[in-house]
Amino acid sequence: MTSIPNDSIGPAKVLRLYDPQSGLRGVVVVDNVTLGPAIGGVRVSPSVTPLEVFRLARAMTMKNSIAGIDHGGAKAGIIADPHTADLEPLFRAFARMIAGIDEYIPGPDMGCDEQAMVWIQEEIGRSVGLPAELGGLPLDLLGATGFGVVACAEVAAQEIGLPLKGARVAIQGLGNVGAAAACFFAEKGASIVAVNDRSGTIFDPDGLDVGRLVTAKRQQGSVLDYAGGQRLPVDEIFALDCDILVPAANPDVIDLQNAAQVKAKLILQGANIPVTLEAEAALAKRGVLVVPDFIANAGGVIMAAMEYRRKSAEVAFTYITQMIQANTERILDKVKKEDLLPRAAGELLARERIETGMKYRSWSHKWR
Ligand code: NAD
Repeated sequence: MTSIPNDSIGPAKVLRLYDPQSGLRGVVVVDNVTLGPAIGGVRVSPSVTPLEVFRLARAMTMKNSIAGIDHGGAKAGIIADPHTADLEPLFRAFARMIAGIDEYIPGPDMGCDEQAMVWIQEEIGRSVGLPAELGGLPLDLLGATGFGVVACAEVAAQEIGLPLKGARVAIQGLGNVGAAAACFFAEKGASIVAVNDRSGTIFDPDGLDVGRLVTAKRQQGSVLDYAGGQRLPVDEIFALDCDILVPAANPDVIDLQNAAQVKAKLILQGANIPVTLEAEAALAKRGVLVVPDFIANAGGVIMAAMEYRRKSAEVAFTYITQMIQANTERILDKVKKEDLLPRAAGELLARERIETGMKYRSWSHKWR
């Protein structure tokens, strides 16, 4: 815990959870709740650490602020393998242990889905990302985040003079975000030349058939079950010849080591914190435009905030397009005028709203 830094906006709370009866071990970080009760996902992973949860919570603070929604940032991690663990007792214990932290509204993240959000809802009456049948806007089924990534791409690609129609796209991680992004890119006429998952990379410079790819992954379990294309090692995807690269899986996958091999002109951060800060700076020096996570992947949390307010999916999709495109334009404009990295430009804009809010409202304000 000592490695988690404090600064002028947070984190307000860092909690370690331990319940030997259910086997739950986890972490919750509530970063800043000035703008409203915090929304942030629950990550289930055997390797999730308190520092990672803090970095993800901070990304949510930035994302929610710049997305104009009235929510602060938080995140939780449950230390378990989502493929082998019995998740229901873990999630029910998790919910009971955070019952009193009512400024935190949990949502889905890697390793869980809308069923887990129902278990939390049953225990403590608050969560987002519920199934449609229970009044939710299931952000992963709707592809909200991948949709927003492509909305962002439309503006960012134009900025670098790259027509989206015909652009060659590589996507790391064909999960909820990656698969939706692949489908929406294909709708815009882009060519998906490579995708991967933890078992390997599939590459076809002439373009993969996105429908067959998503079906192969969903029905057979791996992108390597796609008939056609070349099979390559997992991490080779970062060095492949393409125009746009979308990391949509784990943190810190592009670092100083592999950043030099990136051939893409544009990186859109579909995942949270997928590029180290040092790599973002190195890529900028090489002229690669990197749109940070809290701008590019805000579609999911916008959908969650709309669910919380009982809005329709149509209203949410319109807001996602407008807000992500406006924010992409705002940060690119600031980058040009003030010679900043895109992340720094976005953080300044996000912090402005939080700091203005903090003039009026304390960050330990109790949301109910
Ligand atoms: P997911 O679990 O549905 O998909 C993750 C995919 O990544 C899986 O296909 C998995 O096989 C693959 N993967 C795992 N390790 C890999 C590796 N080493 N190399 C390549 N692929 C690997 O998760 P998701 O919901 O799509 O989320 C992905 C990322 O996007 C996470 O960082 C998450 O925090 C972020 N994110 C998700 C949403 C959302 O709406 N789901 C919103 C914002 C940000």
